[in-house]
Amino acid sequence: MVSVPGASVHQDGETVAWEPRGHEQERNAMESRSRATDEKADGWRSNGIVWRNVILMALLHIGAVYSLLVIPRAKPLTWVWSYVCFIVTALGVTAGVHRLWSHRSYRAKLPLRVFLAAANSMAFQNDIYEWARDHRVHHKFSETDADPHNATRGFFFAHIGWLFVRKHRDVIEKGKKLDVTDLLADPVVQFQRKYYKTTVLIMCFLVPTVVPWYFWGETLWNSYFLASILRYTISLNVTWLVNSAAHMYGNRPYDQNISPRENRWVTFGAIGEGFHNFHHTFPFDYSTSEFGLRFNPTTCFIDLMCWMSLASNRKKASVEIIQARKLRTGDGSYGAVNTRQEK
Ligand SMILES: [Zn+2]
Ligand SMILES: [Zn+2]
Repeated sequence: MVSVPGASVHQDGETVAWEPRGHEQERNAMESRSRATDEKADGWRSNGIVWRNVILMALLHIGAVYSLLVIPRAKPLTWVWSYVCFIVTALGVTAGVHRLWSHRSYRAKLPLRVFLAAANSMAFQNDIYEWARDHRVHHKFSETDADPHNATRGFFFAHIGWLFVRKHRDVIEKGKKLDVTDLLADPVVQFQRKYYKTTVLIMCFLVPTVVPWYFWGETLWNSYFLASILRYTISLNVTWLVNSAAHMYGNRPYDQNISPRENRWVTFGAIGEGFHNFHHTFPFDYSTSEFGLRFNPTTCFIDLMCWMSLASNRKKASVEIIQARKLRTGDGSYGAVNTRQEK
């Protein structure tokens, strides 16, 4: 999966123009906001390097290392709260901008979309519109210059380095041709993009910091470094591992001709997003995995939402299609040959 990074913290977000009829006003408003961001960022660019992002990411990671020293001084409830914030953050990416908005692998009613958009602002990885558009480019042009985090440029580039340089022109040009009318038609996506900075300030920094202070008397210093800085830095790196490690290390049971792999460590950290060979082979599948709920808290969450009638229309690759694909293009792992013999 995953495009990441945030308007102000992340990539030099050249927003791509698209031409949906009936959405010209929204498009123009978005373009002018993005132009303003780009003009500001230009002052920080030198030789293609986006120094603003280099400096902010360096400071963030130094802050995260310092946060480790804060852990023993904080109250146990603050540890629990930080973990809860991590899970909400992760769901905002996995169940939200990835499986819902990027891939449309299930449908969500308004209250769930509002929750996922708020959780997505807590993740501060770029607004839903830009993340989903970049992610569609990643799937369509994987491992080419049009892939925002092209893993053939090495682990560092795929992980974080892509945020430190200007986007390759192919990313922008190919992105222009994608259909994103569905994103423009969703008022929740529009609202989150319009008020992105405000919602990030509230969800990524204020709420995680203030709740422990207000409800159980934690110091603002401790809660800021644990629930905000450390939680944010870990969630960013877990997301980036899907772009880096899960595109380089692991087996390829569904299609050995593509780079994305099944990586159990990434699956564990990214609450179910490490079945990446499956996901790139069957991107419409809401579970991003052949194994349903197993090692997949995000799938559990979506199923729970369906049970609560807040979600519906989960798309799933059939067992027959999966087995046939394993036999045709897989690397032989996950017992594809046995399945054929049984039949
Ligand atoms: Zn994806
Ligand atoms: Zn990928």
